[in-house]
Amino acid sequence: MKYIIANWKLNGSKSLLSEFLNQFANHSLHNYVVLCPPHLLLSDLDNKHIDNFFMGSQNVSEYDNGAFTGEISAEMLAENKIFHSIVGHSERRTLFSETDEKINKKIKQLLSNKITPILCIGENLEQRNTNIFKKIIDLQLEEAFKNIKIDDQTIIIAYEPIWSIGTGITPDISQIIAVHEFIKTKIKQMYPKNVNQFKIAYGGSVNLKNYSTILSSKAVDGVLVGGASLDSRSFYEICNFKN
Ligand code: PEP
Repeated sequence: MKYIIANWKLNGSKSLLSEFLNQFANHSLHNYVVLCPPHLLLSDLDNKHIDNFFMGSQNVSEYDNGAFTGEISAEMLAENKIFHSIVGHSERRTLFSETDEKINKKIKQLLSNKITPILCIGENLEQRNTNIFKKIIDLQLEEAFKNIKIDDQTIIIAYEPIWSIGTGITPDISQIIAVHEFIKTKIKQMYPKNVNQFKIAYGGSVNLKNYSTILSSKAVDGVLVGGASLDSRSFYEICNFKN
C-alpha cells in the first residue's frame, strides 16, 4: 500500500470536488489516499463510502484558540473528522515565514488531536548544488520533532526538493532513493521503536509519466502530488498504482 496525497493549494471549487468524489465513489482503493483541498472544501466523507480515501488540511494553527484571526485549530479539524494535515510545506515556509519552531508547535497540536501530520521537508537548489542538502534535511527533522514523543500514530514525511515543486524537474530515482534512505536512517536514530510508523513520500512534479517509476521503489512509501492532482482522471490513475 502506498500513500498518495493531493495538495490542491489555492485551487479547486465545489464542482471540482464533486467531480473527484464521483470519480472515486464506490471504489475500494488499495492505496491510502488523502485529498487536501482549501479549508472551505473540507468535508467529512462518512456518507461517501470510499475505502482508504480521506481528506486532509493544508495547514493548521500552532495555537489552541484565541485572538488569532484567520487561523484554524487542530481541535477544529478533528471535530470535523479531518484526521490528516500537511505541515511545513515549502510555500508556507518561504511565503508565510513559517519557521521550524512553528512547525514543531503545529506537529504537537496535530498529534495531541490524533491527526496524522504530513510533514514537508526538502532543500532548495542552492543547498542541493552546494551539497549541503543532507545537513538541511537533518536539521529540519531535528527541529520539527524537538521534544516530541510518538505513541502509535502514523507520521508521513514528504521529501519535497523545492527545486522540483511546480517546475517539471524531478530528481533521478537514485537521488530520491538516496534521500529517502537518509531520512529513514535519521528517523531510526530519533525513534528506534517507532520507525515503522513513519512513511516517507516523495513530492515534486509527480505526473502521469513518472509516478510509476517513483512509486515502484521500495524506499518510496508514497507521493505528494500538486499540479497533477487537479485533474480527477490523472489523479485517479496515480491513486490506482499497483506494484
Ligand atoms: C506540492 O505542492 O507540494 C507539489 C509537489 O507540487 P507539484 O506536484 O505541482 O510539483
